[in-house]
Amino acid sequence: MTEAEIRAAIVAACRAMNATGLNQGMAGNISVRFGETMLITPTAIPYDQMRAHDIAALPLAGAAENAVGPRRPSSEWRFHRDLLRSREDIGAVVHVHAPHCTALSIARRGIPPCHYMVATFGGDDVRCARYETFGTAALSDAVQEAMLDRFACLMANHGMLTAGRDLEQAMWRATELEALARQYHLAQAAGGAVLLSPAEIRAAQDMFKGYLPA
Ligand SMILES: [Zn+2]
Repeated sequence: MTEAEIRAAIVAACRAMNATGLNQGMAGNISVRFGETMLITPTAIPYDQMRAHDIAALPLAGAAENAVGPRRPSSEWRFHRDLLRSREDIGAVVHVHAPHCTALSIARRGIPPCHYMVATFGGDDVRCARYETFGTAALSDAVQEAMLDRFACLMANHGMLTAGRDLEQAMWRATELEALARQYHLAQAAGGAVLLSPAEIRAAQDMFKGYLPA
């Protein structure tokens, strides 16, 4: 994809995630790798007013003060940059305060192997990163730990994050993770989740090979 195509895709994804209720207000943010640069949503602008040229360009080797664009990058630029910098298998990161994921994060619970879709996030669970103040390097460290061998995590008393090789895959995972969080929550209310075994999750992972969208 060209830089212009990625910028347009980020704007479209932001509007879509607010329209579907995956995110609300200006809470979420999206980043996409473009060469040695990270294209990331700007801070403090409603998504319906955001245009492609508002997306900030931040060198992966740099920090917020090195960003180029008319607006400052999202206050959460650190965990986006650190994930794109450290994980070659990640090309895009989506962070939202989706209601069911956030509710579980407030209870400081990850998602256990309650459904075979857990396997699409890289392992047999989705961890909940420890609480740290938003926008800090400490939060980025907590996220990096929770994302070890994973493409998603919850963030304690905050929200969730998904990653993919491109924006389409990261957005697909964000929608699936919120659905999973809702299903787990309902199952707990219905009498308690019966969990899958490691072997059952591995079998699902084998089925998913070469089958994930995007
Ligand atoms: Zn947030």
